[in-house]
Amino acid sequence: MAEKFQATVIGGGPGGYVCAIRLSQLGLKTACIESRGALGGTCLNIGCIPSKNLLNFSENFLKVKNFSKIGIEVGDVKLNLQKMMQNKDKAVTVLTKGVEFLLKKNKVTYFKGVGKFKSTSEISIIDKEKKETVIETEKVIICTGSEPVSLPGIDFDEEQIISSTGALSLKKVPKKMIIIGGGYIGLEMGSVWSRLGAEVHVIEFLDHITPGMDKEISSEFMKILKKQGITFHLETKVDLINKNSKGVKIDTTNKNGKKIKFESDIVLISVGRKPYTKNLNIEKVGVKLDKKKRIIVNKNFQTNIQNIFAIGDVIEGPMLAHKAEEEGIAVAELISGQSGHVNYDVIPGVIYTSPEVASVGKTEEQLKSLGLKYKIGKFPFMANSRAKAIDESEGFVKILADEKTDKVLGAHLIGPHAGELIAEMALAMEFGASAEDIARTCHAHPTFSEAVKEAALSVDKRQIHS
Ligand SMILES: Cc1cc2nc3c(=O)[nH]c(=O)nc-3n(C[C@H](O)[C@H](O)[C@H](O)COP(=O)(O)OP(=O)(O)OC[C@H]3O[C@@H](n4cnc5c(N)ncnc54)[C@H](O)[C@@H]3O)c2cc1C
Repeated sequence: MAEKFQATVIGGGPGGYVCAIRLSQLGLKTACIESRGALGGTCLNIGCIPSKNLLNFSENFLKVKNFSKIGIEVGDVKLNLQKMMQNKDKAVTVLTKGVEFLLKKNKVTYFKGVGKFKSTSEISIIDKEKKETVIETEKVIICTGSEPVSLPGIDFDEEQIISSTGALSLKKVPKKMIIIGGGYIGLEMGSVWSRLGAEVHVIEFLDHITPGMDKEISSEFMKILKKQGITFHLETKVDLINKNSKGVKIDTTNKNGKKIKFESDIVLISVGRKPYTKNLNIEKVGVKLDKKKRIIVNKNFQTNIQNIFAIGDVIEGPMLAHKAEEEGIAVAELISGQSGHVNYDVIPGVIYTSPEVASVGKTEEQLKSLGLKYKIGKFPFMANSRAKAIDESEGFVKILADEKTDKVLGAHLIGPHAGELIAEMALAMEFGASAEDIARTCHAHPTFSEAVKEAALSVDKRQIHS
């Protein structure tokens, strides 16, 4: 007889495993199915965690190389890429095992295999040995995530034409790397390989990088990356990619119609991700998708089939691990009769380059297009004592507040530890804070966070240190 569950989560990424834990905490007998052989999804295995590991250690490599400038003589600094990759793999394994422990601790039954609908309430799980287990379930939560998109007619070989997955496991530093797409994943990976010695070029179709980001931050970001040695080719369209044993040739056309040819050892295609619903058999149960192949859900994350729900990268919204986690918790609470909720106006986004870039809420461009009147407060890290003391003073904090009520509508940062500083702004926005609330909060000295306070003061032109 098939084992019976009250809830079955398909996919063990940050959306899925968090959802499964919360369902179990709320008293539902819960199963979590994961096909990868390791929990944590894209994020832990081939996304957030390995990329942040490489970003951190490539930054350390560069810092140590430049130590003599601050009076620390370390001699000849050499890169052992194999060891760096082993260290990254170890970090991933420790964390994925940690998630397995958390499922066990929370009494979630973990199935290793591909989950597939047999009917709306029966799921077949095929394991590595092709053995099938069928379970019965009252509710199903689809959390099968996303996969990288390539260009039409171009397949990833993960050696010369690579996706972010290949970029996390290169066996040697390429002499030259071309990145197609100036989004956050491409720029993070570009930073890693540029620091390790590759000549990095970014080809972007638009006239700016990081689409959707506040334009002022985005142009400052590009200036800083250029100074770090990355070359940008904006308003340039890729026409053709050809590879041979020597490398990859890329034919492009720029905005003036000029044909430009590029050659490179490796090309990283980083033009976005698409929802992943292969193998699920959702057609059989009739779950509806939109034009972008995302699963359509209502505000309770319920699909058109009453007992089937979906969250994370597989539905609409920013493809971010913390967004998937929030949805995982909200859907578990909604299924259990509580009032789960995600505030989509306050989902921070961070780019973990050096300096980091972080934002939450509306950009200036969005406020303009909504016709909202706003005030701007800005403060440069150049005038922040902590940043100056440690010579990390690039960038600034920008706060956008409602012209009349002073309520914070958005915050955009580029600078040291911006990814940590943004949490204060997200919290402030969750509490409906005004810029004055932040300005009147005592911030420790000397900290980077004083730049946030000063930007809040600057909303009403009363900053002290600039
Ligand atoms: C290089 C890179 C860097 C990133 N960095 C960040 C970052 O710094 N911060 C951030 O917030 N986000 C980052 N992301 C995005 C983040 O990884 C995703 O938004 C997040 O993992 C989505 O979570 P999810 O649970 O929806 O899906 P996923 O993490 O994709 O998990 C889905 C899981 O479902 C499994 N699965 C699929 N089909 C089946 C099936 N039929 N049966 C069983 N299992 C199945 C898959 O194997 C997968 O493990 C990054 C992504 C990449 C690629």
